[in-house]
Amino acid sequence: MSFHPHTVIEPFRIKTVEPIRRATRDEREAALKAAGYNLFLLKAEDVLIDLLTDSGTGAMSSAQWGGMMQGDESYAGAKSFYRFEAAVREITGFRHVIPTHQGRAAERILFGSMLKPGDIVPNNTHFDTTRANVEYRGATALDIPVAEGRQPALIHPFKGNIDLPALERAITDNPGRVPLAMITVTNNSGGGQPVSMANIRAASDICHKHGVPFFIDACRFAENAWFIKMREPGYAGKSPLEIAQEMFRCADGCTMSAKKDGLANIGGFLALNDDDLAQRCRNMLILTEGFPTYGGLAGYDLEAIAVGLKEALDEDYLRYRIRSVEYLGEKLTAAGIPIVQPPGGHAIYLDAKAMLPHIPQSEYPAWALSLALYLEGGVRSVEIGSVMFGRQPDGSEQPAAMELVRLAFPRRVYTQSHVDYLAEVLLYVNSIKDRVRGVRMVEAPATLRHFSARMAPAHGAVIV
Ligand SMILES: *Cc1c(COP(=O)(O)O)cnc(C)c1O
Repeated sequence: MSFHPHTVIEPFRIKTVEPIRRATRDEREAALKAAGYNLFLLKAEDVLIDLLTDSGTGAMSSAQWGGMMQGDESYAGAKSFYRFEAAVREITGFRHVIPTHQGRAAERILFGSMLKPGDIVPNNTHFDTTRANVEYRGATALDIPVAEGRQPALIHPFKGNIDLPALERAITDNPGRVPLAMITVTNNSGGGQPVSMANIRAASDICHKHGVPFFIDACRFAENAWFIKMREPGYAGKSPLEIAQEMFRCADGCTMSAKKDGLANIGGFLALNDDDLAQRCRNMLILTEGFPTYGGLAGYDLEAIAVGLKEALDEDYLRYRIRSVEYLGEKLTAAGIPIVQPPGGHAIYLDAKAMLPHIPQSEYPAWALSLALYLEGGVRSVEIGSVMFGRQPDGSEQPAAMELVRLAFPRRVYTQSHVDYLAEVLLYVNSIKDRVRGVRMVEAPATLRHFSARMAPAHGAVIV
């Protein structure tokens, strides 16, 4: 008999620590008020556990820091670029690899080179910056997740899948107006839910049958590969790298934020096969990002990403990462707290509509819940609901399909006791949920308003 431990441990030990500060509830109340009741406008030092985003917030490994010391800062043709290019090529197989400072720069350059007003881009669900960049070109960002993806409580292995008949209809109903289609893995705005290989392949086949290029929003490609390995028949024996390679083989290109599964604090890339399109993208890159062998990044950033992309595909890392999110999900589910089921790859999504039925969507229940979590526990999360998505391109207001609060896990940053604390905060707020009140919007810009909107309690206080 051999020993098969049950406990999934953090597959690293800690070499550098960063203290976190526990503010008092009064201090947090004052901080909230000063921030216009917008968690984006808080000072990070006033936050105890920061789950605002998993973007760029991960801990780098000693191998990444070591790689950074070898950064080649040559303006053109740096060794660091070629190491970065080789890492991206090994995983994606794409011919042209164009570094950018973040994912959204890759989006802007791709859409700037491919879209014209009146065009339509189908996607399982556009991430907020992706949607904003499509709309900025005067095009329509069409979200077509499968029906299962819109039902938070429903358990389904691949709720991130794109609705294939809807994809084909979008293409055939709008001849000449769909210059590309995208699929986001995992589906961040749809609950961090994975997309199956079968769905990626079928979407790719539909696009290619109609001559439409198919792109992957690849930010969480490694987490998606892990879910395919765990859940899709035929993939249990394949490595995450092999699965990722198979995903990318279905596509003509990808946009990527290296702040997610690049395990880096900054960076991104656009990778694709079409020579002409790559040339147009590089021309735009030079205009705003930089020369094509650095694209707005330092040589040392390219080194960190080259190492990080491979570490993100490590099985022990992926097992630990997905398990820590699932662990919190189990505790919340056991307490009857409604979350998007099953837990996604990088985050738990609380279903605020189900948890706070007394708050109408016009008073932003998910926003209100995120304020309550900060006030009571010093936990920073993010609303993914009607503040983020309620404003339509024509300026009208329409409630979002779901009112979610996302608790995004930074990579390799928090330990199991942090997660136990989180569960305690959530259980406490759940016990006083009837006292949580809605909010109103005081002022907001026209696009991406959740980043800078100023809000206020609609009924005197966040918690009465
Ligand atoms: C983060 C993210 C982006 C944008 O990347 P940035 O690096 O933040 O600009 C695009 N799509 C998805 C799915 C993301 O999660």
